[in-house]
Amino acid sequence: MNSQTHIAVIGAGIVGCSCALWLQKKGFRVTLIDPDEPGAGTSSGNAGTIADYGCIPVNSPDLLRRLPSLLFSRDSPLSLNPGYVLSHPGWMIEFLLNCRRRKVERIIRLLGKLLAQTYDGLDPLLDMANARDLLAQRGFMHVYVDQQEFDAAKPANQMRRQQGSNFVELDQADIRDLEPNLKIPFQRGLLFDSVSHVLDPRALCQRYVDCLLRNQGQLLRQRALGVMHETGSVQVRLDNGETLDAERVVVAAGAFSKNIKGIPTQLLKLDTERGYHVQFSNMQHLLTRPVSWHHAGFYATPMNQGLRFAGTVEIAGYHNDLNPRVISYLTRKAHAMLDLPDKPDQEWLGFRPTCPDALPVIGFSTVSEYILYAFGHQHLGLTLAGITGKLIAELANGEEPSHNITPFSPRRFL
Ligand SMILES: Cc1cc2nc3c(=O)[nH]c(=O)nc-3n(C[C@H](O)[C@H](O)[C@H](O)COP(=O)(O)OP(=O)(O)OC[C@H]3O[C@@H](n4cnc5c(N)ncnc54)[C@H](O)[C@@H]3O)c2cc1C
Repeated sequence: MNSQTHIAVIGAGIVGCSCALWLQKKGFRVTLIDPDEPGAGTSSGNAGTIADYGCIPVNSPDLLRRLPSLLFSRDSPLSLNPGYVLSHPGWMIEFLLNCRRRKVERIIRLLGKLLAQTYDGLDPLLDMANARDLLAQRGFMHVYVDQQEFDAAKPANQMRRQQGSNFVELDQADIRDLEPNLKIPFQRGLLFDSVSHVLDPRALCQRYVDCLLRNQGQLLRQRALGVMHETGSVQVRLDNGETLDAERVVVAAGAFSKNIKGIPTQLLKLDTERGYHVQFSNMQHLLTRPVSWHHAGFYATPMNQGLRFAGTVEIAGYHNDLNPRVISYLTRKAHAMLDLPDKPDQEWLGFRPTCPDALPVIGFSTVSEYILYAFGHQHLGLTLAGITGKLIAELANGEEPSHNITPFSPRRFL
């Protein structure tokens, strides 16, 4: 019966591609809409980790204390454009309000429970799209330069453990044994042995879309300008002047979801945490697994094309100009960590879709049960895309979702 039901998915990032494939798995007829190549945006340049341990948000009571030094130091992974923040104060005020201890504990609990479902969402897609070769299970390591950094992270790591993360503590000799090419004598670390990472995040999106097309799904290379709805159907207005009719639409355009007309204004609470990477081609042999220099705010991940140093947070809006200070910061840290060529071969900027409470938006829109939302996955979109797709497909199919999604409803912003 579902094969008669047409669902349009706006956005072919990892979240949209995962929703599209899960919807197809339920038997729906699916059209994926994006003006760009699948996975060409934020989903291409991330650190690649399936971060099922990643329940600790950027929001934290500690951030409030560290904010002045983080903002005014030249050696910081966090930067703000004051002009942008002052002209968009709402998001930042709410973000800071969500740094209060009780709020943060709630976020950790909710993210922890959702992250525990990561592989329920991801595994079926990897099998369906024949994409297991793009996933490496070599673990993941957090490193700390000294005992003081390690001790400062203890409360957060304790909470990770309470949410079900398994890791062992490392000393300097353990770290040297596991990653002998690291130049910095990191004194303490954590090893998350069961963690996987994606060797080419953009290729993963492409693999999902290849599978969608093989199974009679469609890819429309158009920008969705607006969504109109009436009882039983939706129309997606495209930038070639045409309109696509569907029974339902899933909005999965990442940080850009709020730009689509017909999306209610409360979603203006969505903004972007810009993130960067520098990549050194053919240097991936220097590390076995992703290594996160926790205090410095980035990951070094061995990928198919090279060694990628990805992370940092910049609040500066949606323009495409790379901030040379951030690129220089990442390049400097990369050179401090490992023996690398002078210049990276790739410098990249992406737009994490982030709500001020660090929770994704998954569920029916507030205006119509024919419009579903799947965005706002902040630092965890690659990890949570699969389970988001599964939940969206269950909702579209009229099933009780297999995970409680009430906290992720857009209604929380009303
Ligand atoms: C530096 C960095 C490191 C990261 N590391 C990790 C990590 O290790 N693990 C992890 O889980 N996550 C990580 N993330 C987060 C993750 O990359 C994002 O959460 C995820 O890519 C968001 O995916 P998305 O599909 O929602 O958005 P996007 O990838 O931005 O995709 C949105 C798509 O929508 C399309 N679009 C926009 N507007 C329209 C429109 N009007 N009509 C049609 N299409 C439209 C765009 O072209 C784009 O293709 C990282 C992010 C960054 C920046």
